[in-house]
Amino acid sequence: MADSNETNITPGMKRYIDKNNAYLKNRSEYIKNVVKKWKFDTISVHGLYSVKDAIEDYQGSIIEPIFMSTSQVFNDSDEMEAALSYLIPSWTYSRIANPSTYYYEWTIALLDGYGFNGETSCCSTSSGMAAIMTAVQPFLIHKSKSKQEPRNFVASSQCYGGTFQQFSIRLMEERGIECRWVRNTADIEEWAEKIDENTRFLYGELPSNPCLGFFDIKAVADLAHSHNIPLICDSTIATPALLRPIEHGADIVVQSVTKTMTSSGFGIAGAVIARHNLTSNIDNDAMKKDFATYIKYLPNRDYGPNLHPMQAIMTLNDLRTLRSKVDLLSKNTMRVAQYLSTHNKIESVQYLGLPNHPLYKLASRYLWLVDAEYDPEYKKPVNRYGHLMSFCIKGGAVQTRKFFDSLNNIFRATDLGRIKSVATIPAISTHQQQGQAGRVLANIPDNLVRLCVGAEHPDDIIADIEQALKKI
Ligand SMILES: *Cc1c(COP(=O)(O)O)cnc(C)c1O
Repeated sequence: MADSNETNITPGMKRYIDKNNAYLKNRSEYIKNVVKKWKFDTISVHGLYSVKDAIEDYQGSIIEPIFMSTSQVFNDSDEMEAALSYLIPSWTYSRIANPSTYYYEWTIALLDGYGFNGETSCCSTSSGMAAIMTAVQPFLIHKSKSKQEPRNFVASSQCYGGTFQQFSIRLMEERGIECRWVRNTADIEEWAEKIDENTRFLYGELPSNPCLGFFDIKAVADLAHSHNIPLICDSTIATPALLRPIEHGADIVVQSVTKTMTSSGFGIAGAVIARHNLTSNIDNDAMKKDFATYIKYLPNRDYGPNLHPMQAIMTLNDLRTLRSKVDLLSKNTMRVAQYLSTHNKIESVQYLGLPNHPLYKLASRYLWLVDAEYDPEYKKPVNRYGHLMSFCIKGGAVQTRKFFDSLNNIFRATDLGRIKSVATIPAISTHQQQGQAGRVLANIPDNLVRLCVGAEHPDDIIADIEQALKKI
């Protein structure tokens, strides 16, 4: 995949290309005939790292090796030229690629592509914000080199605070690219009326952080495609254990892998996952054919928002138990939500798993614990709603802070998706920068507490909440 100069393939280079074509053919057969037939758990545990890889390439290491190396040595000038022209799979330099991030990318591509009857690929990024930035940029270019056209995109206003800032300050204010916010994402008409001939993509976060907005992915994807534009989804809160938007028609998924996918909390990581042959009104065939590989080898090579190999392997270790962990955390969260929903000091509880939530029915169509039908305990599909919930405390901001400051076991942190329970007040933390008007748009009142229930015994979490509520 070269973006400018044509490469003249010499006989010396061709030797390497032929050898590597054989390797690529074997790999796609292995994926098609073996890996794609595995259940979700097996993909989570192994990804593409096989016994054969371990023995032939990595001295038998059962864990994917951490390649803390800036660059790769080449046999000769022919191999170097073929590699730098992207004519053979190689990693060259760790800003471009790295063997450790390679295994990370494949595992995540396969997990978000699980159940999807087509190909997906993934580009690792240094954070969730970098994933969002690199997923949206290629659609925002000027199509004509000589003319500056008006450009816009349509996005859910209920979104992560950092995303709100990236779209409203960096893109709108600084670059003059209009972001048209959709306030009620469950209303397909609101999406539809914001699209015009200058719209480049639709963007939606679901479930949204922290207010648990949700939308009908298939309907919004169909709408996007009817305008020849892609749908990009931030699916961080659900993780592929509960939702895989590509299977429902989305073109691109962005993940803050920092969160539930790296529940140990060891560091920051992101991923862009895309279906092959996506829909876009941008005239760039390489981009449309394999978007994630395109951004990895071209724009991200030039911008450099790459993931550290150490973090890639630490994340892989967390991913191995993703399904069972998300199941446990979801069950614990449900218990806490049920407890809070009957408490007289609580004004309201927002959890998609509570039947009185206005989006319960819609969310229940999409949020399923992957492979529950193969689980001997369930033997049938079961809904799970993840471990993000929020609630409002009676008595406004002052009482809310008092409750929050009285928590003993639940960590006060602007974080989520942890194996440990963490809580925050979004109005003074994650959604503080966007100001009062931005919070009204995103529906974030001052007395809202965001709670992510961890893997502790739920009785102990409830006891901590109970004693803190007694203080107000
Ligand atoms: C945290 C978060 C992000 C940003 O991810 P980082 O890894 O912190 O950069 C984006 N979207 C959602 C939904 C998030 O929760």
